[in-house]
Amino acid sequence: MPLTGVAGWPVAHSRSPQLHAAAFADLGLEGWESQLLPIPVEVFAETVRALPASGFVGINVTIPHKEAAFEVADESSETSRATGAANTLTFKDGRIFADNTDSPAIGAAIADALGMSDLSGLTVGVLGAGGSDRAAAHAAVAGGAAQTRVWNRNSVRSELLASELDGVEAVAELGDLDVLINATPVGLLAGSSLSDLPNQGRAPDGCRLVLDLVYADQPTELIKLATAMGVPSVNGLEILVRQGALSVEIWCGQRPDLGALRTAVAVP
Ligand code: NAP
Repeated sequence: MPLTGVAGWPVAHSRSPQLHAAAFADLGLEGWESQLLPIPVEVFAETVRALPASGFVGINVTIPHKEAAFEVADESSETSRATGAANTLTFKDGRIFADNTDSPAIGAAIADALGMSDLSGLTVGVLGAGGSDRAAAHAAVAGGAAQTRVWNRNSVRSELLASELDGVEAVAELGDLDVLINATPVGLLAGSSLSDLPNQGRAPDGCRLVLDLVYADQPTELIKLATAMGVPSVNGLEILVRQGALSVEIWCGQRPDLGALRTAVAVP
């Protein structure tokens, strides 16, 4: 029985097992299973190396293990190397392969929402400088964005990100944008609020799309604000669905239907 799962610490909140199960059902793959894998930081590498012997063919990886997942791999994709992080590990022939499907998921979600084939010519602003910000900034650059700007409350981290990812500029003010991406946990973290973000989270005039990576059953404050301003939006569950679909495709060789996965995690 091929096993998959999602590793994190904590990970009880993750919807990836239900996402994977929906994907396997959609693809008609009988016997495939997905499990929650709560793995403490200090034993991440040794636990991951032991998984193939227990029948695991691959896992998704979430906070706080994405950098460690990249490090534990024997081989890595270009996207994984560029971001220094992996959200997908695949076990094959005694080796571990690292990939990052967050970046292509973000790029495809933006392009589809704007009815474009890629992100050519767009000015993209990213809020934050953490792991998912790297994926978001990489997605913009890889998609052909004309400008990719990163803002972070701690400018040292955004400047470091810009120095490590070609084509990314660290900024103190976002200026005019086509796409605003929130990759901070504002809206999720207790005590955080839109006032923590530039322009209190308001998309600049002329902005065509707001993407909030925070995932929640209800629209986030940022998405409610965008909607009130008449700016279309994409929510974090859509990115969860798309990155999971790409991971399943890496493990199984077939891409599940996004609609079936959206239903499984109830994308609003
Ligand atoms: P991370 O590595 O911890 O980075 C968090 C970033 O947010 C840092 O740049 C941090 O700034 C900033 N930040 C934290 N609290 C803030 C506040 N109150 N005001 C302004 N900035 C703040 O986190 P991550 O892994 O990138 O994840 C970020 C968010 O994306 C989380 O909500 C996560 O759930 C979500 N996410 C969603 C998906 C998906 O599939 N939808 C995938 C990945 C992540 P400092 O550097 O100044 O501390």
